Amino acid sequence: MVTFSGGSENFGGKMVKMKGGDVSVMITEWKDIPVELLMKILSLLDDQMVIIASHVCHGWRDAISFGLSRLSLSWCSKNMNNLVLSLAPKFTKLQTLILRQDKPQLEDNAVEAVANFCRDLQILDLSKSFKLTDSSLYAVALGCRDLTKLNISGCSAFSDNALAYLASLCRKLKILNLCGCVKAVSDTALQAIGHYCNELQSLNLGWCEQVSDVGVMSLAYGCPDLRTLDLCGCLLITDDSVIALADRCPHLRSLGLYFCKNITDRAMYSLAQSKVNNKMWRSVNGGNDEDGLRTLNISQCTSLSPSAVQAVCDSSPALHTCSGRHSLIISGCLNLTSVHCACCVRPHSAISPFPHSAH
Ligand SMILES: [Zn+2]
Repeated sequence: MVTFSGGSENFGGKMVKMKGGDVSVMITEWKDIPVELLMKILSLLDDQMVIIASHVCHGWRDAISFGLSRLSLSWCSKNMNNLVLSLAPKFTKLQTLILRQDKPQLEDNAVEAVANFCRDLQILDLSKSFKLTDSSLYAVALGCRDLTKLNISGCSAFSDNALAYLASLCRKLKILNLCGCVKAVSDTALQAIGHYCNELQSLNLGWCEQVSDVGVMSLAYGCPDLRTLDLCGCLLITDDSVIALADRCPHLRSLGLYFCKNITDRAMYSLAQSKVNNKMWRSVNGGNDEDGLRTLNISQCTSLSPSAVQAVCDSSPALHTCSGRHSLIISGCLNLTSVHCACCVRPHSAISPFPHSAH
């Protein structure tokens, strides 16, 4: 255990002489370390040590308060709530705060303190905070409007009204993880996200079972920059959601449809055709081979046929079924074993990539 004993210690009882240009600086006490040097030293320490260092003296506390932009308290297995309550008023320049928990500790008063004091936050991780209520979400919405990345996965008590309110105020959001927010993620909330958060690039809606095509289509229309969307376990969505995404989100690179039992070949052909359109566009405007889907999870989508899935695979060079790369994920679909990426030997090379193309 490392401890610091206040601000009046010498460096082992000796004077340290530093030369900076023409000026010689005599450092006699811990508090005399130049701020730049202190921040350099602190950047080498873990978050626990930084917190301890902030208690060395007023000078260090002020320097750390002013200079610390990133803090993770995920290592804290007990008393995280009290720690956040004590640190939030000091570390007001934080831009990134990670409060992920293995067992739920955070309560609304700590998140409210963060929202009140840390107004520059851009990245906030509150995942697995089961104890939090809507009060936290309203506070974050009001206090942290510069958020670009928010993770509230597993926060199952939030309501869709509170999430919609947050979307209306935090309009710079680019990455949003709502996995398991069963109550919060309704079509109404997704309509608010589609309406206000037009810069959104990544959204995780895993196991949000209320979501229907209405909500996903609002996203497709409102968030044209969407690159990653996880809809795993969204049991109600149909082909209409995928078709809207294929039509309206040209940057889509990763799509998770695990366990979406209503998805049929129609959705696959819309993805394949959308990529073909991109190819035509690229031939005029340039582009690179990394365009198109890079990850597609259709595990347990048991209605799909091999030819439809092969069409998507053929139209997206970055999709692979081969071991090691495995970015087209089809586990649980026993009838899709004949689907292969280009680098595998295809036993059925005559499979047509599209149903109506002339051969
Ligand atoms: Zn491959």
